[in-house]
Amino acid sequence: MNVTQALAQAAGLGIERLDAQVLLLHALRRSETDRGWLLAHDTDAIPSEGEHAFAAACARRADGEPLAYIVGHKEFHGIDLKVDARVLVPRPDTETLVDWAIELLAAHEEPRVIDLGTGSGAIALALKKAFPKARVEASDVSAEALAVAQANAARLGLDVEFRQGSWLDGSQGRFDLIASNPPYVAEGDAHLAALRHEPRSALVSGAGGLDAIRQVIAQAPSHLADGGWLLLEHGHDQAPAVRGMLQAAAFGYVASRRDLAGIERCTGAKWLELG
Ligand code: GLN
Repeated sequence: MNVTQALAQAAGLGIERLDAQVLLLHALRRSETDRGWLLAHDTDAIPSEGEHAFAAACARRADGEPLAYIVGHKEFHGIDLKVDARVLVPRPDTETLVDWAIELLAAHEEPRVIDLGTGSGAIALALKKAFPKARVEASDVSAEALAVAQANAARLGLDVEFRQGSWLDGSQGRFDLIASNPPYVAEGDAHLAALRHEPRSALVSGAGGLDAIRQVIAQAPSHLADGGWLLLEHGHDQAPAVRGMLQAAAFGYVASRRDLAGIERCTGAKWLELG
């Protein structure tokens, strides 16, 4: 079998061309960005070992497994994170939240930051990379997720303090920024079928999808410095509800930002001590 035939076989399984190209390069142990190589070698015969690896990868992709789990890593905000089924795959949407956090932290010399439900460590590690002097903490209730995040931190040489626990439980002192991409999909949401390979606990949060966000908003004020910010990612139709909860909790400067698709994807607010 040659390169063209292998890609045609993947197309026959319903795999998108770009995914098939990445999977083939991975199976051939070549750089996954080197799609030019595939074009230049379209009639090259594939060694049988590569053919088997490609067939196995295609079967997984055709079954709906995220590409990132199959190749074992995902780029997020300029860093390469190792990921597997223990953690949610970092999404480009979440870069909106990181960009916002970077704007807010620019004014601080040595900000204190915490990422709640860190998963692969994506938000915490992107912020530590942007602000080497920041003191960055990250929590997750899943020991398995923390193992992934800790390995990413070690590999990237980024010093983040990880703690197993629910949201802010057990964290000491006050933060200049609390950031979180919590689970926010409603139980029974039709969308979940397509996400079945990812950890349910990282996706689903109660009947309306807002349980985790509600808990974080309730905990945040006693853990924020005066003038500190809370930034939350949420579902495509949840921005008005999240703004409402933040206003009800007496936060100021409540605002939402749009993701790459133009959808209000994260909402943030500032905590100001009264009096
Ligand atoms: N953005 C994910 C999705 O709907 C959900 C992530 C989350 O629940 N935090 O595909």
